[in-house]
Amino acid sequence: MSDYSIARRNMVDRQLKARGIKDPRVLAAVGQIPRHLFVEDAFASQAYGDFPLPIGEKQTISQPYMVGLMSEALLLTGKEKVLEIGTGSGYQAAVLAKLAGRVFSVERIPALARRARRILDSIGCGSVNIKVTDGTLGWEDEAPFDAIVVTAGAPSVPDCYLRQLAIGGRLVIPVGDMGVQVLKRITRIGENNFSEEQLVDCRFVPLLGKLGWREEA
Ligand code: SAH
Repeated sequence: MSDYSIARRNMVDRQLKARGIKDPRVLAAVGQIPRHLFVEDAFASQAYGDFPLPIGEKQTISQPYMVGLMSEALLLTGKEKVLEIGTGSGYQAAVLAKLAGRVFSVERIPALARRARRILDSIGCGSVNIKVTDGTLGWEDEAPFDAIVVTAGAPSVPDCYLRQLAIGGRLVIPVGDMGVQVLKRITRIGENNFSEEQLVDCRFVPLLGKLGWREEA
């Protein structure tokens, strides 16, 4: 097995730190997770490059910078209960497992969820909970969450994510059309009071489902 630790350190320095990711816990987490295990085998040597990569089923693992940015935007300190929508490869979930207390992740494609489960177990992230279902409905039974991160582009913000946030909780979600979205951070300030920040333009695969894009689109 090749040693990717130098590639990983360079990735953290040149793609995350150099572009303004500062949270030392995020930099450490991304510096620890073996990203090459989460991409398709044929792409392992490119796993630390500055781009998203295929993970099968027409889905992608997000660009490292985007994983860093979203993780930082959640403002995690270690004890939080976090929900991720779009498990995909499981990579973002592994990063979150280093940053938060409990991680719940939802994926609609069973084969991806199975693959993510296997990889997460193999690197000691067995505590990440994965459910196969339509994640546009969130994870009602486990709510409220201190942080929710959506790793697929939504046409609008599903209401249930807002309801499943704890007071003070943060929702990070790409919202826009199929081609380009704006990454937003929505904070639940009170029972019926939310604040919204626009972080950056981005490009995610579509969030498909009841409160997302229609599956045949
Ligand atoms: N976070 C992933 C990247 C995921 S790509 C990683 O680190 O690898 C987006 C994922 O969202 C895809 O796997 C896609 O199948 C999934 N997805 C899209 N719509 C969904 C929905 N309604 N519920 C759950 N997952 C969904």
